[in-house]
Amino acid sequence: MRDIDAPRLQTRMLHMGRPVPTAEGARAVPVNPGIMRASTLLYADMATMREVHRRRAEGERVLSYGRHGTETAHALEDALTEMEGGYRTRLFPSGLAAIATAFLAFLAPGDHVLISDSVYGPVRKNICADILSRLQVTHDFIDPDGSDIRGKLKPRTRMIYAESPGSGVYEMSDLRELSTVAKSHGVTLVVDNTWASGYLHHPLALGADVSLIAGTKYIVGHSDVMLGAAVCSQSSWARMERTAHALGHVVSPDDAYAALRGLRTMPVRLAAHAAGAAEVAQWLQRRPEVAEVFYPLLPTHRGHDIWQRDFTGACGLISMELDRGYALEQAYAGAIGLQGLVDRFVDSLSLFGLGASWGGFESLVLPMNMAASRSVADWSRRGPILRFHIGLEHPADLLADLGHAFRSLGTAG
Ligand SMILES: *Cc1c(COP(=O)(O)O)cnc(C)c1O
Repeated sequence: MRDIDAPRLQTRMLHMGRPVPTAEGARAVPVNPGIMRASTLLYADMATMREVHRRRAEGERVLSYGRHGTETAHALEDALTEMEGGYRTRLFPSGLAAIATAFLAFLAPGDHVLISDSVYGPVRKNICADILSRLQVTHDFIDPDGSDIRGKLKPRTRMIYAESPGSGVYEMSDLRELSTVAKSHGVTLVVDNTWASGYLHHPLALGADVSLIAGTKYIVGHSDVMLGAAVCSQSSWARMERTAHALGHVVSPDDAYAALRGLRTMPVRLAAHAAGAAEVAQWLQRRPEVAEVFYPLLPTHRGHDIWQRDFTGACGLISMELDRGYALEQAYAGAIGLQGLVDRFVDSLSLFGLGASWGGFESLVLPMNMAASRSVADWSRRGPILRFHIGLEHPADLLADLGHAFRSLGTAG
């Protein structure tokens, strides 16, 4: 076969994590690695078992016991490591498990952590409130753009945790700036890279130590599997791996298989999601009922320049803010309150499913409580915010559905 010098990432993703057929070795390999289910793996004799355990203790990835993963999980790990340009990857039963493990891996009592104001809700609600406080780890939230970070660093700051674009309204973080600060203070930088699903953006190349991905979203891509991953640099690997192992995290081979299968088509799915989202976002921007549309691809989006510099594309998530004056007027005219107005809009949609998560093939809608999700930024005086995941439906059908929902709100006065 002809040598291709530098195939693009989209091309390489079709082959990652798969053995290569050779004339001497594996002469024929399946296109999709098979599902290897095992708890017990049997050894030939005592000497072999000791040898395998020794290699495992030295950090080598070997087949030894189901909890350390079988060939199916190993194939997915290799693919994610290559996609993100990491050293090694650890899989988790959910995105949240990967996040929680990172906090436990790099923090100890007395430490301090800086957390982006834009983080995924359960980081604030569950990890900060239920785990960090009990471990006597203190935390402060920072502006996602990092502008206030130097004033909030403490002698005991051990970790910076960012998510870019953020959850809900997609605030952008300047990871180059955050990693400069992290490196000069010897602090670990952990980044939730779920929006880009490890494909559109590579935090490790920008100086981060760990890139976390909820594979539940676009990697799996079909809303039917929970999965998390931590792609690590060489320096962060041992801490992440040991902590994950101690907590007993393991992913079923069936789920790893589904994720690896999903990964192959993720680049083309993301492009289709983004094309639909861009069309819907521009349409929403022209609606008089809408005050602001949040989507990093839009030149009007705050931090659009960072997205343009550091990302190779966008996903299908967009959010809109209903004009507060308009919303209050309609809510008053209909005597239904702001919540009633939002309920009416959501319940009028038929192509947008109502439910958590995103990254599957269908469009979804979810009202966002931004005021309760931020503590640095003040969202208390904004209009109602709705998040849409734009699926693979024809965009014209989605626009018709949204137009119907807007009409259901009526026009006061
Ligand atoms: C969904 C999500 C997670 C959590 O992933 P789960 O697999 O649902 O636990 C973490 N971070 C972000 C940004 C997410 O959107």
